Amino acid sequence: MQILDGKIAAAAVRESLKTEVSQLKAQGKRAPHLAVILVGNNGASETYVASKQKNSLEIGFLSTLVRLDATVSEEILLSEIESLNNDATVDGILVQLPLPKHISEQKVIETINPNKDVDGFHPVSAGNLVLGIPTFIPATPYGIMLMLEHYNIPTKGKHAVVIGRSNIVGRPMSILLSSNLPYGNCTVTICHSHTPNLKELCLQGDIVVAALGRPGFVKEDMIKDGAVVIDVGITRVPDETKKSGFRIAGDVDFENVAPKTSYITPVPGGVGLMTIAGLLKNTLVAYKKAEGIE
Ligand code: NAD
Repeated sequence: MQILDGKIAAAAVRESLKTEVSQLKAQGKRAPHLAVILVGNNGASETYVASKQKNSLEIGFLSTLVRLDATVSEEILLSEIESLNNDATVDGILVQLPLPKHISEQKVIETINPNKDVDGFHPVSAGNLVLGIPTFIPATPYGIMLMLEHYNIPTKGKHAVVIGRSNIVGRPMSILLSSNLPYGNCTVTICHSHTPNLKELCLQGDIVVAALGRPGFVKEDMIKDGAVVIDVGITRVPDETKKSGFRIAGDVDFENVAPKTSYITPVPGGVGLMTIAGLLKNTLVAYKKAEGIE
């Protein structure tokens, strides 16, 4: 069993981006610029946004944070997005989800200019992904593809089982793994909350991606020997032994599943770190488009 280490793989992606950005700057070009909108002060969102900013700055991007109060109206949020859409110095726009209940996430996503949609959630990006047209790929599935690439995990002809069909993880993941890509070409089964024979399907998986948000859901009797297991789950579980009062748990019962696998991602330290790598790659793509490079 080998650990797929998000720290190592994400650092490698960042390093190559950093080199590319410094070369662009040496040619007299401006820095790529990511703008993040954060509504309210949800603890997890604050952590994600801080990490996205830190990583952006580390590789030489510009990073702008627009903070809005949790009570902000949908109208004002949409006008903030419009002004970033119209700002030629901004390449990528990300609105940190979840949003307060009175704001339509769909409306927000659809207001972002598809050319700046570095989260890859806009219907234009989703449509392109389905059609195999180069586009912004949602950051978490993109990060998983980068992880497979970093560790050179064979995927062609394998049976991949994806648990979860959300628009941000499960569904795009299933599309990528089934696409004709260097780390795609799998036969894919996508499972969800109405799948009756989940265990039997998982047991067929050469690659199992767990993205359902239920801590420890995937047990050792659901995984065949030698499978590759990718754990996307991130759930805060109360834990009094921790200073924060919680620990982060994945969807896989790591301790018991890991010995059966050929490769497995830990939580934390796995997919979560790759998600930001995916976002940074998308931002560079947006920048290059804006600058007419490649
Ligand atoms: P979601 O709630 O939108 O979707 C969960 C999916 O799991 C649904 O499609 C549902 O049908 C399926 N599901 C639920 N219970 C099931 C069951 N018993 N059997 C089979 N399928 C079941 O969640 P999401 O946004 O896709 O996120 C999933 C998990 O991944 C969460 O823990 C989330 O925090 C985590 N996540 C991690 C990252 C990261 O960077 N690592 C990014 C996004 C989400």
